Amino acid sequence: MRFTFITLFKNIVECYFEDSILNRAIKNGLISIDFVNPRDYTKDKHKKVDSTKIGGGAGMLMTPQPLIDAIRDIKGKDSWVIFLTPAAKRFNQKDAKRLSLKKHIIFVSGRYEGVDERVIEKEADEVFSIGDFILTGGELASLCMCDAIARNIDGVLGNPFSLEEESFEDGLLEAPAFTKPNIFEGSFVPSEFLKGNHSKISALKTEMAIYRTKYYRPDLKDKI
Ligand code: SAM
Repeated sequence: MRFTFITLFKNIVECYFEDSILNRAIKNGLISIDFVNPRDYTKDKHKKVDSTKIGGGAGMLMTPQPLIDAIRDIKGKDSWVIFLTPAAKRFNQKDAKRLSLKKHIIFVSGRYEGVDERVIEKEADEVFSIGDFILTGGELASLCMCDAIARNIDGVLGNPFSLEEESFEDGLLEAPAFTKPNIFEGSFVPSEFLKGNHSKISALKTEMAIYRTKYYRPDLKDKI
């Protein structure tokens, strides 16, 4: 899958792909990334890409022309254009799985106080927030989405079964997990985990997942 980042700050995004799983995915030809800077498209003689808000209000907005020209220049028939903004529905794991089947995703990162709404109206296939807080720009948000999407692409994770038991798979948070040693600073792993009875371990994990979900995420109550 191809990911294009439309951003004024390529360096913020690019370094994320220099290590670990997504770096290996690039080397293995499973994903590719590229960057487009809206400043390269601006027709403003001072190379500006932002302006004051019409109607008043603090801060600057990204102007329509550079963004629209950049998007239309790179968009193909298989492209899916995603805008990042806090003023949208929240991205979740179901979205990540669904979007992992796309061929080309274009992430449009806002800066300043965001993007002129007409750009979103004209060009967005989808609009996402990554949570109820405000970042300084869309780069981190697009990286979060890209990472969550990419790890659902066949072959990206070394062990595909890793995806099966994760939080949100069955609507619950994942149960607590443990590794060696069996006793650490006087804390024991649950004894059932050491006995090798997989159906009992599985039942215990489900019970713990339900308790954890009730405690941390009562909003997921339908699944509980
Ligand atoms: N004025 C905007 C508002 O109140 O909704 C916030 C603009 S924010 C300072 C600048 C850019 O950061 C946004 O255009 C968006 O691309 C990105 N951003 C900030 N928080 C985000 C979030 N929670 N999810 C996705 N993108 C976010």
